[in-house]
Formats: sequence, structure tokens, C-alpha cells
Amino acid sequence: MRLDSTRVLVTGGAGFIGSALCERLLGDGHRVVCADNFSTGRQANIAHLLTEPGFQLLTQDVVEPFDVPGPLDQIFHLASPASPVDYQRLPLETLRTGSAGTDNVLALARAKNARFLLASTSEVYGDPLEHPQPETYLGNVNTVGPRSVYDEAKRYAEAVTFAYHRAYGTDVAIARIFNTFGPRMRLNDGRVVPNFIAQALDGRPFSINGTGKQTRSLCYVDDMVDALVLLMRSPHRGPVNLGSTDEMAVLDIAGLIADQTGNPLRFTYAPLGQDDPERRRPDTRLAQRLLGWSPATGIPEGIAATISWFRTDLGSSR
Ligand code: NAD
Repeated sequence: MRLDSTRVLVTGGAGFIGSALCERLLGDGHRVVCADNFSTGRQANIAHLLTEPGFQLLTQDVVEPFDVPGPLDQIFHLASPASPVDYQRLPLETLRTGSAGTDNVLALARAKNARFLLASTSEVYGDPLEHPQPETYLGNVNTVGPRSVYDEAKRYAEAVTFAYHRAYGTDVAIARIFNTFGPRMRLNDGRVVPNFIAQALDGRPFSINGTGKQTRSLCYVDDMVDALVLLMRSPHRGPVNLGSTDEMAVLDIAGLIADQTGNPLRFTYAPLGQDDPERRRPDTRLAQRLLGWSPATGIPEGIAATISWFRTDLGSSR
């Protein structure tokens, strides 16, 4: 592949979505710098990229001010613990990454005159009182609840992103990412899909929090990467919701994984986590209109690809 002159920084590039994004940008012929502190990411996610001529790894905590020598045209800012298990284990790191970290990466974007894209989250809506959630919905976040370190870090990150744009004219965009799944999630990261796949591959019952009737809308990672690239290449600032509108009950997600793995459909029940949202579905009309994007991969197809990846990753023959 011939490399073009576009040089892109991906913070959090060793994580689940970040590593898929690095792969995609390299495939498009760009030069890619991945900055990561490996707090929740894995070397294994990017090991296959280290020999690519266009790929550079920078082991860096974005909470510390840093420079990337040379030009940068685009910055995708994904660095942040993202799963509830991670951000509850790393509460202060999560707040600092969203605040000081985002500020530092914006300062770099300003210095390099690069377009900056923030990976924000549906969690800025908290436990939403409006369904589905349009970008104009201002959210229902418990500022002192167990999820607040993540939700408020991302709300601050959105605020500082727009402040850089208003104060310095920095070219920015905000993607509000909804539940995304696929290969390279960690089996123990606490999110519903890897949780159920881990249980299914071990032949254990599926663990349900609450009634299991709460819904999630699951977007396959390749579709999410397409959306992030489209938003980066567009002139739009957003915030733009990115995700699937296919709302599925948690019980039905377990059913799908049971069918595909042959694990019998048995459940254990635990209480719903505090502030765990009951319903989660984006209004994605803006993404469709501005970017011409909607997810192309069906949930069963995405789940099948994810199970197959976990089987290989675990070296499992089950
Ligand atoms: P992930 O945990 O797999 O990846 C995050 C990456 O950021 C990891 O590689 C981690 O080591 C790195 N990181 C964390 N703090 C850092 C710091 N201070 N300095 C440098 N690197 C740091 O999570 P993911 O699911 O790939 O999420 C990527 C981004 O997308 C996150 O910003 C997350 O908030 C956002 N997002 C993800 C989802 C989802 O469903 N996966 C949903 C909404 C938003």
C-alpha cells in the first residue's frame, strides 16, 4: 500500500475501537500515530500493526502535556476508560483523562492546526427521560452516582472541545457513540456482549442484572469506524449520535448468543446497577442526513463475527 501524506493521531489507539480505527486508517493509506497508556488497552490489539511502515506507537498518558514531532492533519481522541468495570476501577484517572487529557489533546490539535474528533458517548444523556435520544436532549445525569466519573468527564470533554473551537477556531467534531461491540473487546470488561460470550463459551448461565427487559442498541465496530472516519472527513461539528437504532432487550441478546454458541438458555439474576439506564436508543437521523451513514451489519452477523474472534483469541476449540 502506498502511503499518502495524511498523518493521523489516534489517542486510545490500543483499545477496542481505537485499534480497529488504526487498522482502517492504515488501510486507507494514511500514516498513523497511536498514543496510549495501556491502562485498558492491550499490546496484542496493535501487535500486528507494529511492522507496518506507516504506523508509530507512542506510549503516552494524555493527562500529561505531550508533543508529537512532525505534522498532524487529524486527531481522533478516543483515550478514556470506557467500560463501567474500568471506569469504576479508575475513577480519578477517568475524570483526569476526560478533563486534563482532552485539554492537552486539544492544545496539540491547535498547535498542529489539525482537525480534532472527540469520541464522546451516549452516557452524556445519563438515564434518559426521552426516547430515542436526539442530540438536542440535554441529559439526566446523577452527578454523584457511581457512573458520574465517566458521564461528567465526557460532558466536560464536550464542553472544552467547543470552548477550543470558540476561543481559538480549532476545527472540532464530537461523535456521541452508543453501545458498540465486536472483536478485541475484553471478555471481562463487564459489557453485555463480551460478558454473555464469556459465559456461553464457559458453559455457564447468563447473568442478568434486573429483569433483563432493559434494552441496548448494539452497533458493530466496523460500522462505528466507518462513521468516525466519515465525520472526520466531513465539515460538521456535531455533536452527532452514532449507533444502531435496533433496540434489543438484554434477554434477547443472551438468546442470540445462546443460539450461536449452543449454550443452554439459563439465567442467574442480580439487581440492576445504580443509575444503569433502562432504555438506550439513539435518534440517528442527523448522522443519516449529514454523513449518509447508518449501520450496515446486522446484530446476528456481528455477534457471529465476535464469537468467532473470541474463540480464536482464547485458543478455544469449543
Ligand atoms: P477501550 O478501553 O478498549 O479503549 C480506550 C483506550 O484508551 C485504551 O487503549 C486505554 O489504554 C486508553 N487510555 C485510557 N486512558 C488513557 C490515558 N490517560 N492516556 C492514554 N491512553 C489512555 O475502550 P473503547 O470501547 O475502545 O472506547 C474508545 C472510546 O470510545 C472511549 O473514549 C469511549 O469513551 C468511547 N465510547 C465507546 C463506546 C463503546 O461501546 N465501546 C461507547 C461510547 C463511547
